[in-house]
Amino acid sequence: MLEIKNLYVKIKNNLIIKGLNLKIKKNEIHVIMGPNGSGKSTLSYIISGKPKYIIDKGKILFNKKLINNLSPYEISKLGIFLSFQYPIEINGITMYIFLKNILKNKYKNKVLFKKIYKVCKKLNINKNNLYRYFNVGFSGGEKKKNEILQMLLLKPKLVILDEIDSGLDIDTLNLIFKNINKYKKKYKCSLIIITHNTNIVKYINPNYVHILYNGKIIKSSNKNIIYNIDKYGYKKIIKNENKKNN
Ligand code: ADP
Ligand code: MG
Repeated sequence: MLEIKNLYVKIKNNLIIKGLNLKIKKNEIHVIMGPNGSGKSTLSYIISGKPKYIIDKGKILFNKKLINNLSPYEISKLGIFLSFQYPIEINGITMYIFLKNILKNKYKNKVLFKKIYKVCKKLNINKNNLYRYFNVGFSGGEKKKNEILQMLLLKPKLVILDEIDSGLDIDTLNLIFKNINKYKKKYKCSLIIITHNTNIVKYINPNYVHILYNGKIIKSSNKNIIYNIDKYGYKKIIKNENKKNN
């Protein structure tokens, strides 16, 4: 479904992603972990077409189509969804108007209301929140739930969750992952889950875990590597991989 080949990405002339390769098939869950500043969020942005992020070299293919130069809107229409590490606030636009706009080609006006209410209920989102400005004054956890609300309504084929789990209370964490797992089961989507949480395997069952370091995936493994990370941190893995390459 997604294939990234030898990708190099620059931000303001700084090389951030340096030769990254990644292949994701339909219905797979890939967890990406790695130290702060490794390029995890940059990777999620570049797949989603964020402006000013320049692809210096390499290819991003989605269902064999080159998406390097597509706009965020075009990429979203292909079925790629990104939940932001830091969801943005939009003053002056209510949640409801925002959702109505992003969903206008997907649902008829008549059913839209019902659909949105139904998903709000699933996520334990207060309906009154729909009439507040988008994310303005919402708590961190509420903002993350608003991201999942958009995901469940847009029905993407590839879901990228950038630290969806940071700062969430245990009940919200359970609720969010219950909904994500249900969605995955029903629609057979693929997931990229960026996280620092070594307890992530309690909530989802990844096919692969990748360690991103210094703009590159230095190791791909099954979920067992997470126990090593929990025990030893990243240092040991980075050292071992460096040794192998020298
Ligand atoms: P991660 O999500 O893995 O913690 P990021 O992808 O956010 O890391 O950042 C990777 C590196 O790119 C960091 O060193 C960060 O400071 C740098 N970076 C991110 N955005 C910009 C920017 N707009 N200008 C310059 N450097 C940036
Ligand atoms: Mg990040």
